[in-house]
Amino acid sequence: MFTDSHAHLDGNRYDADRAEVIARAKAAQVATILAIGNGDGPGTGTLDCAVKLAHLHDGVYATVGIHPHEAALAKQDDFDELERLARDPKVIAWGEIGLDYFYDHSPRDVQQRVFLQQMEMARSAKLPIIIHCRPSDNSENAWDDLLRIIRENWAASGLGGVLHCFTGTVAHAQAALDLGFVISFAGNITYPKAQNIRDAASIVPLDRMFIETDCPYLAPVPHRGKRNEPAYVIETARQIGKLRGFSAEEVGQQTSQNFLSFFRLTRSN
Ligand SMILES: [Zn+2]
Ligand SMILES: [Zn+2]
Repeated sequence: MFTDSHAHLDGNRYDADRAEVIARAKAAQVATILAIGNGDGPGTGTLDCAVKLAHLHDGVYATVGIHPHEAALAKQDDFDELERLARDPKVIAWGEIGLDYFYDHSPRDVQQRVFLQQMEMARSAKLPIIIHCRPSDNSENAWDDLLRIIRENWAASGLGGVLHCFTGTVAHAQAALDLGFVISFAGNITYPKAQNIRDAASIVPLDRMFIETDCPYLAPVPHRGKRNEPAYVIETARQIGKLRGFSAEEVGQQTSQNFLSFFRLTRSN
């Protein structure tokens, strides 16, 4: 059994075969998928994309939130809609939210403000947060800001969160673990140059990690360059198993158990 803790299944890259993609995941023993609900961002009518998908499929859960890329587009109406959507029983987390200083699609001060506002809303909704963090090249800037903001504004909530598609250092992983976070590894852990990700996956306790695809992006080797999909999460499990001395199935089982207990899910619904 495997769990894909982070999948973007909305969007036109799946319009032709979305149901088949989900069927292939089930056939590959990927029983649980967390659909990320950023959609195309505020003002596009897509903030409910993951909620809609979760209601169509057993074993698919949803998040809601505004990605840091689109932080500058967020208006009060959008926050109101998120607040309403967050009450849906299939919504189990708020995200992905955070900081992206690599693309800087939104000004950094706006990213921080929208991140803080969504943490407040997640706290009211009693939902854990899914974090996206990407610094500028050769810089720790987004990590420094992110870890400080979480320490000062979130850690005390006790709700915890997930650092998705982890690409930091062992020190960043350790700092996030100390703040009560789970670390989620994506298909880029299989890329030859990603030794820092493999180093981090070697030290994160097995009961504090998730695996994900972040599909349609970051297809793992041997699918690299193609559209990614939840069935491929097994390649991330295989890579972590190699590092830790387990089979892909054992890593799948453990990370699935982690997912269910973190989100207090006892069964698919
Ligand atoms: Zn992300
Ligand atoms: Zn994502």
